[in-house]
Amino acid sequence: MSERAAPFYCPYCGDEDLRPNEQGHGAWECAGCNRAFQLKFLGLLARGLQPNSTGGDGI
Ligand SMILES: [Zn+2]
Repeated sequence: MSERAAPFYCPYCGDEDLRPNEQGHGAWECAGCNRAFQLKFLGLLARGLQPNSTGGDGI
């Protein structure tokens, strides 16, 4: 089985009552606000992890 991204909260209303939608992969519907949405993986970020990312104002 392939691993699917599952949202924990609705991005629109924040409800947790999400269930898979029949529209396709990554499609979910929210029982709280009655919206259907789809998650899409855009790709990996090119910048990667930076070791010096603890903050600061660039000085
Ligand atoms: Zn919702």
